[in-house]
Amino acid sequence: MSPAEIGVLALQGDVREHREILERCGAEVRAVRLPADLEGLRALVIPGGESTTMSRLIQRFDLLGPLQEAFARGMAAMTTCAGTILAAREIRDGLTDQVRLGLLDIVVRRNAFGRQRESAEVLLDIPAVGEPPVLVAFIRAPAIEEVGPEVEVLATYRDEPAAVRQGRHLALTFHPEITGDPRLHRMFLKML
Ligand code: GLN
Repeated sequence: MSPAEIGVLALQGDVREHREILERCGAEVRAVRLPADLEGLRALVIPGGESTTMSRLIQRFDLLGPLQEAFARGMAAMTTCAGTILAAREIRDGLTDQVRLGLLDIVVRRNAFGRQRESAEVLLDIPAVGEPPVLVAFIRAPAIEEVGPEVEVLATYRDEPAAVRQGRHLALTFHPEITGDPRLHRMFLKML
């Protein structure tokens, strides 16, 4: 296994954007579509997109069990927006059979912001990555409504956690991959 080989779950969503930014950070990137693609991966990025669609595709491609096993053996996750919904312990306003990986002790609500706040580009203060603030996009973002005691909040947006870390997992409710600032991906690679 190459030391910096990172998977990107490539079922739906902004896969290409994550790939580009990870490659700019020096990582070797592997698209993950099949259970065998998870073999030997140290980390998996679960992109933004639509969590209900990704959930269906995970089921259709028989990926749920293999994903759970890979995380149980220590694979780390970086998740953005829809990916963060999939990574949560509890999903509010999700589908009843929506896939939930429970990687972080967080409760999320899908599409938590009203129409006017559906999408925005924001300069976010994230002390863990330093100055200047990071330009990110919120697009039909979830809200993280509850965090457990093990969860470290790295940034907030409108008084709610927007970037959180628990152990080796990093979950964001926004998209740094769309606006292109590589600092969060770089921080994740350093966490590995
Ligand atoms: N609202 C979407 C969902 O429920 C997430 C949107 C996004 O990833 N930009 O999956």
